[in-house]
Amino acid sequence: MKTRVVVLGAGFGGLELATMCSEALGDEVEVTLIDKNDAFVFGYSKLDVMFGRSTPEAVRLAYRDIAKPGVRFLRQTVTAIDPQARRVSTDGGDHEADVLVVALGADYDFGATPGLAEAGNEFYSVAGASRLGELLPSFSRGRAIVGVCGAPFKCPPAPSEAALLLHDYLSARGVRADCEISFVIPFGTPVPPSPETSRALLAAFAEHDIEFVPNRRVSSLDGARHVAVLDDGSEMPYDLFLGVPKHRAPDVVPESGMAVDGYVPVDPKTLQTRFPGVYAVGDVATIGVPKAGVFAEGAARVVAASLIAGVRGGKQPGAYDGLGSCYIEFGAGRVGRVDVDFLSGPKPTGTFQEPSETLVAEKRHFGSSRRARWFGR
Ligand SMILES: Cc1cc2nc3c(=O)[nH]c(=O)nc-3n(C[C@H](O)[C@H](O)[C@H](O)COP(=O)(O)OP(=O)(O)OC[C@H]3O[C@@H](n4cnc5c(N)ncnc54)[C@H](O)[C@@H]3O)c2cc1C
Repeated sequence: MKTRVVVLGAGFGGLELATMCSEALGDEVEVTLIDKNDAFVFGYSKLDVMFGRSTPEAVRLAYRDIAKPGVRFLRQTVTAIDPQARRVSTDGGDHEADVLVVALGADYDFGATPGLAEAGNEFYSVAGASRLGELLPSFSRGRAIVGVCGAPFKCPPAPSEAALLLHDYLSARGVRADCEISFVIPFGTPVPPSPETSRALLAAFAEHDIEFVPNRRVSSLDGARHVAVLDDGSEMPYDLFLGVPKHRAPDVVPESGMAVDGYVPVDPKTLQTRFPGVYAVGDVATIGVPKAGVFAEGAARVVAASLIAGVRGGKQPGAYDGLGSCYIEFGAGRVGRVDVDFLSGPKPTGTFQEPSETLVAEKRHFGSSRRARWFGR
């Protein structure tokens, strides 16, 4: 009997896991990859859509293009997970697994920030970024707030990038002098594990007259008064709000009994949950690394290597290392990089690489190599 691997979620984690298994084992295993959507979109593509650098159609990578030996993609919504029995129910039927990998990512909890849905906008979903893409051309005067509504949130440098790219966007339209940009974030610095990266970002904010409001999150929006209320009760008037919504695991995860404090605890070395044969990787797991694609991918690689070793009888992989690199857009086409190490020391550390042409090319390669590897495009 072939090992039945069921992977829930075809994002960074699920796609990498399915790809590695297929490359190493072909149809020696039966990988079922399930996602409710019909396409994958890189997180950073949402910034491209918001600022009109791309369209929602152009950034979609359709799952129907996945053609990998041993991998079957099913467009279905997961409605229940029984981790004890390793059984999954979807709107298309039930699936039994020998190995179950939960890679369902993090969802957005729009209702957790009163007023956000009615009076604000967000750029963390494709729909939200598209809507902002339609609104931005008519924003020519007043204050824009890039505001984070809660931590943890995906890709901690992304809101800094949004503030800098907004500066570029308004400058290109010749309206920057009539606009203010404020940036509210619940951290003391833009990228806490890397003081160097934070210094570079703070310098860029100062250079471009972007107000930095640290250690605060936006707790509600008052649409009638056009005011953002922060978690200390202070108020900031705005004309356009560009929000990062609060995150939470997809409902089916807490309903399965696997979550503790909202996300799924795992052994940080192996990504195993407390249920035998059940793993969790990426944004849905609690492991001590940020919610970012590179970390989801790294964790998935460890699980895949362990699975491959199990089938082939080889040596088990080393522990997950918690290392990751994120590219950061500084505006004006400049791209820097932060390399972070979350697990090897007593506290996370990071190093910074100044923006350069090499990093612009590296970021492009980051996307194109994964597009080719996962989708054959
Ligand atoms: C603006 C922005 C910029 C970003 N920039 C970067 C970056 O530069 N580098 C980087 O590394 N990361 C970046 N990220 C973060 C990155 O996108 C995520 O951290 C990453 O996608 C997490 O991977 P994952 O596999 O855990 O989850 P995801 O990629 O979110 O995949 C989870 C999948 O599960 C599916 N799903 C959820 N619930 C169900 C259900 N009930 N049934 C079926 N399917 C379901 C979803 O449809 C989704 O496809 C960015 C994010 C944003 C929003």
